[in-house]
Amino acid sequence: MSETDTARPSARAAALAMDPEEFRRLGYRLVDRIAGHLRTLPQRPVTRGETPDQIRTLIDAQRPLPERGEPAETVLEDAAGKLIEHSLFNGHPRFWGYITSSPAPIGMLGDLLAAAVNPNVGAWTLAPVATEIEAQTVRWIGELIGFPGASPGACGGLLVSGGNMANLVCFLAARAAQAGWAIRESGLAGGSRRMLVYASEATHTWIQKAADLFGHGTEAIRWIPTNAGEQIDLDALGRQVGVDREAGHLPFLVVGTAGSVSTGAVDPLAEMAAYCRAENLWFHVDGAYGAMAAGVAGAPGELAGLSEADSVAVDPHKWLYAPLEAGCALVRDPRHLRDAFSYHPPYYHFEQEAINYFDLGPQNSRGFRALKVWLALRQAGREGYREMIATDIRLARRLAASIRGERRLEALTQALSINTFRFVPDDLRARTGEAAVEQYLNRMNQQIQARIEREGEAFLSNAVIAGRYALRACIVNFRTGERDVDALPELVIRIGSEVDREMRAQLP
Ligand SMILES: *Cc1c(COP(=O)(O)O)cnc(C)c1O
Repeated sequence: MSETDTARPSARAAALAMDPEEFRRLGYRLVDRIAGHLRTLPQRPVTRGETPDQIRTLIDAQRPLPERGEPAETVLEDAAGKLIEHSLFNGHPRFWGYITSSPAPIGMLGDLLAAAVNPNVGAWTLAPVATEIEAQTVRWIGELIGFPGASPGACGGLLVSGGNMANLVCFLAARAAQAGWAIRESGLAGGSRRMLVYASEATHTWIQKAADLFGHGTEAIRWIPTNAGEQIDLDALGRQVGVDREAGHLPFLVVGTAGSVSTGAVDPLAEMAAYCRAENLWFHVDGAYGAMAAGVAGAPGELAGLSEADSVAVDPHKWLYAPLEAGCALVRDPRHLRDAFSYHPPYYHFEQEAINYFDLGPQNSRGFRALKVWLALRQAGREGYREMIATDIRLARRLAASIRGERRLEALTQALSINTFRFVPDDLRARTGEAAVEQYLNRMNQQIQARIEREGEAFLSNAVIAGRYALRACIVNFRTGERDVDALPELVIRIGSEVDREMRAQLP
């Protein structure tokens, strides 16, 4: 073989190969299609409300794995058409379901760039720039929410897939720090006392998954009652910890919620932090939804208390508007992640200490989730984010006011950017609370929600407030404007009146 032969790159015709010219052509075409989608989205339905069977037919679900490949152009066209014509769009200005944000366009481009470079952000050597960008992203998120970490350094943390994973990572950090024996080696059986967790009844279901997955069992959760505003009862918390210690158990973790899923309630975080410090308990804040609103105009002052926590879970794919998936686990003292996850000595690269994220969390190979978050933080800056989040909250309050102004709508709760409310026909207004009436209202509002979804003009989810089935609008959407929220009461009243009429016609 001559020298010139090996100097030339080989031209292997692999099944997945795509020459740069074809990549450019298909890529531009896809970007054009996405731009068209974004332009026309406000005029199209949030969702078509199709059934599982319709969607299975659409993609020919039973078709076996194709033996032979197809041109990239064909499959990309096919996928784009199906997805853009038949999906539910949380990027629609009138999508207000669950806590799912509208995706930032720069995040869409960021994911493309991340996939093109494809750094493995498990190891510094494999991802030098990406690792440092992730570390900066974590620091910036800490700064944004006012969680500076142990002095003098910044907080520790890493990106994960979402709020659940971020909470699970913090749970393990808390456990390793609090067990008092070598729990990573000898497990729960290595201790003589039962480790217990304290969380309010408004806590998200990640807590059951954590207790179950990590071998404690859900009975290790002490459910603390809440007040009418869904905030944890501090006296009950203190009493329960006392009783459990008396019984020889090991209370180790207290969970506060910064923005509950159903109503957006914020626990008294500063008081909880002070209590935990005095009692030597790990204080974790689940801020998946609400933490990003800390310091934002119109947000509850209680959020400031999260700066006192030992760990915080936040969700960039919620109020940082990152495309799915992006969660972030933050710990006050960076050592705690290493203590919970590492099996290696600290790593040095050319004599400088460097971060290997596989030592700070459960994943080994890791994608570059941080890029889309980092790009958006740079594009909007702190000011831009404060403005977007404050506007979401302001729009939610505007919606609350117009709901209160409608005779046939009953406002139930308003906090952060969540409103819960329901439709109540005129003649039942004075009879709410009667068992039969409540049953009827519950069934009716359930149908109203389903019909709104089917018609696709807006999208709401639901909550149950003191036994009442409520419609729930959560604005984590930088595309929503005043006209969008102003249209909602009328829509609910129109559909509510229809459903009421139909249900009464069917009564015996
Ligand atoms: C959304 C949410 C979670 C779960 O986060 P995912 O990103 O869906 O995994 C947990 N806790 C709270 C308070 C949330 O709002």
